[in-house]
Amino acid sequence: MILIANSEAWPGFARTVAALKAGTYGIDAMIEGIAEVEREPKVRSVGYGGWPNMIGEMECDAGVMDGTTREVGCVGAVPSTIPVAALAREVMRRLPHVMLTGAGARRFADECGFARDDALFPDSKRVWWERLEQELSPEERAKFPDIPLAPLNHTITDPERVRDTTVFLARDAAGGTHAVTSTSGWAWKYPGRLGDSPIPGAGFYADSRYGAAACTHTGEMTMRAGTARSIVLGLRMGLSLIEAVDLAVADVRDLTAGFIGALVIHAIDIHGNHRVVALNCHEPIRYWLWHPALAAPEHREAEHLTA
Ligand code: ASP
Repeated sequence: MILIANSEAWPGFARTVAALKAGTYGIDAMIEGIAEVEREPKVRSVGYGGWPNMIGEMECDAGVMDGTTREVGCVGAVPSTIPVAALAREVMRRLPHVMLTGAGARRFADECGFARDDALFPDSKRVWWERLEQELSPEERAKFPDIPLAPLNHTITDPERVRDTTVFLARDAAGGTHAVTSTSGWAWKYPGRLGDSPIPGAGFYADSRYGAAACTHTGEMTMRAGTARSIVLGLRMGLSLIEAVDLAVADVRDLTAGFIGALVIHAIDIHGNHRVVALNCHEPIRYWLWHPALAAPEHREAEHLTA
């Protein structure tokens, strides 16, 4: 068994460890922990503590992948819903589809009995408006949100403000290697924008025969490079975990045009190895690690790579 998750996982990591120790199916164990992260207002990038889009609406994203069956469930830009990882699991369980977005995802949440949450944390609302207000003329303020948002999207959008998402990767007692993600996405994003957290192959991927990977920070880069899938494919082709992550990093570094920002890649293989690398990050990046040989989860520093 092994569990890794990014630093934002602190409210729920121990709960997932306890569930894995009890032999719980890895996806259920990770969703139990992520539900704690999604409810915690001190986590400023996931669920209730996260950031709204440009017009002040919360739109959360999540993904789950069962590495044994390679079944996937994802939800994107879901309004009024905090436990979006659990909703993604319901997509995987109950539908022939892989991904639901927006109003359709919320409709499905109603069918599954999910409460309609007041998802906008008052402090996030205050910060969102204070920052936006600085960019608006009095005329724009009067008409807001019926103004062109794209110009603001270039000036106001600050990906560094969204420090993370939460990503969990586990190999459970049954040997299943799985991935789960949840995020409120990029602060002040254009309404409807999806990052990589609900995109299988980009923000997460799992295959119980080889390993799993998941990313945080600039989803626009991992979607272009197919980062999580590249790592697992590298393992399948016989690369070590170190080499597979290096391969994915090389593809990301090769991106020059378009939006380039910070990126953190988390990966495990089925032999008990893990690797977490931070690219273009200006502050220390940490992650959580647990496996049965550790008495308690460890909060470790990622490898920092320069561009
Ligand atoms: N990767 C997430 C996204 O692109 C955001 C983050 O992890 O900071 O939405």
